Amino acid sequence: MQSFPMFLRTTGRRVVVCGGGETAAQKVRLMLKTDAAIHVAAPALDPELAALAARGRVVHDPAPPTPETFRDAALVFVGTGCPGLDSALHGLAKAGGAVVNVVDAPHLCDATTPALVDRDPVVVAIGTEGTAPVLARRIKTRVEEMLHPRLGPYAALAGRMRDAVAAAVPRAGRRAFWGWAFDGAPWRAHAAGDEGGAAALLKAAVAEGRVPEGVGAGAIALVGAGPGARDLLTLRAVARLQEADVIFYDRLSGDDALELARRDAERVFVGKTPGAHAWPQERITARIVAEARRGRRVVRLKGGDPSVFGRAAEELAAARAAGLPVEVVPGVTAASAAAAALGRPLTERGETGAVVLATGHPGPSGTVPDWGRLAAPGTTLALYMAVGAAPRIVAELRTAGVPGGAEVEVVAQATHAAQRVLRTTLDGLAAALAEAGIARGATLLVRHPHAAAGTALAGAA
Ligand code: SAH
Repeated sequence: MQSFPMFLRTTGRRVVVCGGGETAAQKVRLMLKTDAAIHVAAPALDPELAALAARGRVVHDPAPPTPETFRDAALVFVGTGCPGLDSALHGLAKAGGAVVNVVDAPHLCDATTPALVDRDPVVVAIGTEGTAPVLARRIKTRVEEMLHPRLGPYAALAGRMRDAVAAAVPRAGRRAFWGWAFDGAPWRAHAAGDEGGAAALLKAAVAEGRVPEGVGAGAIALVGAGPGARDLLTLRAVARLQEADVIFYDRLSGDDALELARRDAERVFVGKTPGAHAWPQERITARIVAEARRGRRVVRLKGGDPSVFGRAAEELAAARAAGLPVEVVPGVTAASAAAAALGRPLTERGETGAVVLATGHPGPSGTVPDWGRLAAPGTTLALYMAVGAAPRIVAELRTAGVPGGAEVEVVAQATHAAQRVLRTTLDGLAAALAEAGIARGATLLVRHPHAAAGTALAGAA
């Protein structure tokens, strides 16, 4: 950094603006946002500045400036429109010991003005050290969108309540209190225009000495989004989405489900697109716990059922370790969706009395399930994340005695518009996948019925 951002106190201080035309007026307008005493040093003022002087909003100083003009000023702007004069005034201001900004002369600037997002008393200042003003504007636009227009007055209200909260709410509960205040019911009331309602809620909570029961307590829900189709979400999943303050989602959990969330809920994409910028699991876990600790209601939306190959164990353990309430909302898992797409059950009386859900993807230490043992006669083996490992799985199943003619069904993108179904045999699987160009996002169902020995297709009738 070649410039360090700081907030300059203006209360009870002078800001001197040199120049009486439009350039100076622009700086005066900026300074009018503050409570500084604005002195305009110029022989004559344009009508806008003259009107401000007449109203007492600025002090007109027509005498030729000397170093004394600038002594103890919080800030000096120079913008007379004449570069020679600007440079001379810069010299005088420096002699007076001031921090100076000369318009359009970066080499004469001790300080530059940032792009501002103003939700007074909340202010975001954006600077690019003069390298990319357009970028600063764009960032400003995005931050403008992020910060609710009524945030400023609410922050001011919170500021007025600060001492009362500190006196009434024990230290251990204060973070949760403010988390609730800024994300929960009082903020929602204020954002909707009900300032009185917001203040009443805050004051009631202060009188109680804590956040009202059940209202602001942070919580985590691991919510199953199902296989993709929006109407395969459970009613409970929809309820949690509508209550959520923040939703962490990935590619598998689908955009359709997100549409069911509250419009002002924060949405955080955590990746999980193979090869793209996925968040490491530890980062997801840390963030959901941190958000819930702030008193927010967190939904971790997961494709299918959260408890099937969904890394739910890590998130459950972290939530419990943090003492946070955590809930699992089950969803329709891919194997069920695949069976539905095939129009055929996962279990068939007399043929397959067991369903095994297994992964084709190696675990952290490279371990994989013993597929051969899992596919005992009488079993439907539902394989997740298994397209890449298909040749190896076929070889192991064959070695374990599953006949090469055993039925295999592949359902890709079940319940999506792009859903595809393949019906093949164990020996034909690799070629069928290659021919169909299915590389991922598919579930494989391998049927090994009781009557299989030598007549693998008998169960298909
Ligand atoms: N928790 C998820 C599984 C996550 S693992 C669930 O219960 O379904 C990711 C794997 O799930 C994918 O590789 C694929 O094998 C399977 N899968 C997820 N969505 C699917 C869909 N719509 N159609 C077919 N398989 C799907």
